[in-house]
Amino acid sequence: MASLSGLIQCRTPSPKALILDTTSAATRTSKKISIFPASSSSVFPIPLRSTRSRAPVVSQLERKESSNTARASVADASVNVSLEDPELPKGETWSVHKFGGTCVGNSQRIKNVASIVINDDTERKLVVVSAMSKVTDMMYDLIQKAQSRDDSYVFALDNVQEKHRSTALDLLEGPDLTSFLSHLDSDINNLKAMLRAIYIAGHATESFTDFVVGHGELWSAQMLSSIIRKDGVDCKWMDTREVLIVNPTNSNQADPDFSESEKRLEKWYSQNPSKLIIATGFIASTPQNIPTTLKRDGSDFSAAIMGALLKARQVTIWTDVDGVYSADPRKVGEAVILKTLSYQEAWEMSYFGANVLHPRTIIPVMRYNIPILIRNIFNLSSPGTKICHPSVVDEEDSPKVESYVKGFATIDNLALVNVEGTGMAGVPGTASAIFGAVKDVGANVIMISQASSEHSVCFAVPEKEVKAVADALKARFSRALDAGRLSQVAVISNCSILAAVGQKMASTPGVSATLFNALAKANINVRAIAQGCSEYNITVVVEREDCIRALRAVHSRFYLSRTTIAMGIIGPGLIGSTLLEQLRDQASVLKEDFNIDLRVMGITGSRRMLLSEVGVDLSSWREFLSEKGEVADLEKFVQHIQRNDTVPNTVLVDCTADSNVASCYKHWLRKGIHVITPNKKANSGPLDQYMKLRALQRQSYTHYFYEATVGAGLPIISTLRGLLETGDKILKIEGIFSGTLSYIFNNFIGKRPFSEVVAEAKEAGYTEPDPRDDLSGTDVARKVIILARECGLKLELADIPVESLVPEPLRASESAEEFMEKLPKFDKEMTGKLQDAEDAGQVLRYVGVVDVANHRGVVEMQKYSKDHPFAQLSGSDNIIAFTTTRYRDQPLIVRGPGAGAQVTAGGIFSDILRLASYLGAPS
Ligand code: ADP
Ligand code: ASP
Ligand code: MG
Repeated sequence: MASLSGLIQCRTPSPKALILDTTSAATRTSKKISIFPASSSSVFPIPLRSTRSRAPVVSQLERKESSNTARASVADASVNVSLEDPELPKGETWSVHKFGGTCVGNSQRIKNVASIVINDDTERKLVVVSAMSKVTDMMYDLIQKAQSRDDSYVFALDNVQEKHRSTALDLLEGPDLTSFLSHLDSDINNLKAMLRAIYIAGHATESFTDFVVGHGELWSAQMLSSIIRKDGVDCKWMDTREVLIVNPTNSNQADPDFSESEKRLEKWYSQNPSKLIIATGFIASTPQNIPTTLKRDGSDFSAAIMGALLKARQVTIWTDVDGVYSADPRKVGEAVILKTLSYQEAWEMSYFGANVLHPRTIIPVMRYNIPILIRNIFNLSSPGTKICHPSVVDEEDSPKVESYVKGFATIDNLALVNVEGTGMAGVPGTASAIFGAVKDVGANVIMISQASSEHSVCFAVPEKEVKAVADALKARFSRALDAGRLSQVAVISNCSILAAVGQKMASTPGVSATLFNALAKANINVRAIAQGCSEYNITVVVEREDCIRALRAVHSRFYLSRTTIAMGIIGPGLIGSTLLEQLRDQASVLKEDFNIDLRVMGITGSRRMLLSEVGVDLSSWREFLSEKGEVADLEKFVQHIQRNDTVPNTVLVDCTADSNVASCYKHWLRKGIHVITPNKKANSGPLDQYMKLRALQRQSYTHYFYEATVGAGLPIISTLRGLLETGDKILKIEGIFSGTLSYIFNNFIGKRPFSEVVAEAKEAGYTEPDPRDDLSGTDVARKVIILARECGLKLELADIPVESLVPEPLRASESAEEFMEKLPKFDKEMTGKLQDAEDAGQVLRYVGVVDVANHRGVVEMQKYSKDHPFAQLSGSDNIIAFTTTRYRDQPLIVRGPGAGAQVTAGGIFSDILRLASYLGAPS
């Protein structure tokens, strides 16, 4: 008995062929694929043949389409081309076009394609068309439904028919329409019968599937050719199953048989000479004339094969984007169009996931040096991307590391398999045994990486194949595993590949360093690396969830001239809003002069937040926040800031004094979000929390800057870091850390009582609303602890003795007013202390001390001689003295205003700019 696949075998025209079709033979307009009756409840495995016999009623369409008497069959290649038949001219006179599914997505678009084809003034044109968009998916879905015995395939097939019927009704009229619809009906009936057989069998063979799914191309090509003829231009349509002969492989690919295809093309042309041929993409036949396909997205490949067979001057692939972008434009909003690509670069890009081009498109055209042009049918003004041999100029013009990288592509849903063991080293045949086992399960290995120690071989396969691969390897190496020669066959799931592609990239010093640096700075963990000796690509495997971030990070490193940072501002109070003002005023200078693009993607207060997709307009954020703001939700806010489409670097700026916000830093840093803050709570909170936070920051390239926590805009932390990092030893840090207390003691010189000076400071706005917050010394103690920890002292806030200037009885006073009212009662004590100091030629100062040598810190009132730098202070300045091994006799002094919104915001701003330069902005 013949196999089911025999049912769709199409052979040499035979007058004896049987036509089993639900439409009557009299209405048939062309040779049909033979099949059993749709009504049949059982499968008759009759190898039905096609026929060339003409139906008596020949429509106008058919008369014009003399070429298409074998709609689903393949002409006999053994018939020789007669001498009188016109010979196929080859070469520069031909241009090949391929229109993707979206280009022929509806009737209007098909008309548009017709006009583009007609307007191309090349002497000879061959146009390859895909199925209308979504149709191939619909056809695969029919198979899926039928073989899983889901009745709804009938309804789904009706939808397919209706889609084409209504498109044809829009496009065609008269006999052309009648003819197309009758073809369509007849095809649908045959499909119905075939799907019924699949439904009954509960299985579809590959050839059944290929036969069914290829119909979309048959219909779109017929419609396009009819509409072109309707415009008065003569053309023929070609069922490429008559011409393209391919050998299916067992790796879901098809290898073209160029010489057989060439013979058939010549023969086809001799029978259908034409200067304009509309050919089906995607479909072909096996050498046994069984319909097959070039597999998903194969129409690009069809066009390339046709281009090569005709030795055409150019192959233009029309699609829905302006060309090949430096990265998938759906994933990287700032991807740029590449003007040119070499054949190898285009191949690598498409192999690694840039589905704008089918990877096999390159080889056929490269052989004859035929350029490929990728163009956007919806934007004719864009010149597109040209794929050809790289010109010498291109290479010489590209001295910069950046220019060696053309683009990036990603493949998702992969798993890594790691075969590891000391027994592998130096054992010949290990790799062959591993990949032999992988081949046996039919899995596709996408990349391989082997350490030169041969201790491990690691490779990536599609996630859905990994279980079978791992099982096969475990079985194959069970003895080696038992004996310990192999330690493991490990699977790492949820991976993606990120490939950087560019001519000579891999052999140019600095390119891979830049790539890995960008990944490290975005805090992305690389699981495996492969750099082929082709020099065209570097492939890294990253975790699935990091993939888009990795893509954006490397893309922006190579393509954005600017360092772009997405910012979220938490707490738009006095300091936060001053920072926003400073950002607004400085934005354009930063962009133009320093190539830094800071984008505030959101602002959140405790009650409301404002989120933006492109960046908040900083001149009117207040109005936006009150009008368009939504209820504050910190988690949502953070997600929004990090989720933005274009910018790989994210920073959260915490301008609150809130310990709840501070407790989130760890979580944010772990997610790769940088944190900048003047909030002292995290660094002066519990020691173990602080230690964890710093450890986390050190392990990663995620930055945590907090300069403004100690001296607002004064460079205190950075000075200290500079000393420590260059090997100086800190002996002591001593300073007046409170602007308020500085003011008070600079003015408490015996002329007025202490309480009066405090009242004056309060009035001038130097104190907190309740001056006890300053006088208690807690704030100074927090600064001391921050500096102490920076010096490596493991101290808790409670370990710092603090001399409070709030008299004991007033600590419980109800209000600031009550406190101020009662404070004069305690003036005598302070006056006494001042007098003692005066008597000794000294002044009183309220200081914080980090005594590194003795592992302690203290906050207290101290006396200094009148020539001491601390005695020279005026206004509310801070002063900090670092005594170190290098600065032992003369301490290093930092002095200046250490409080106030402007200077604090300035301190935060300089941390933001430091972050930008760490992330690669020019200095
Ligand atoms: P067609 O149906 O025309 O063959 P495809 O969907 O197969 O179109 O290919 C075009 C699509 O490829 C684009 O819409 C784009 O989303 C996607 N694509 C992925 N990577 C790239 C890239 N690097 N450059 C351009 N397009 C890309
Ligand atoms: N129509 C086929 C597919 O969608 C071939 C193509 O369009 O390239 O896979
Ligand atoms: Mg495509």
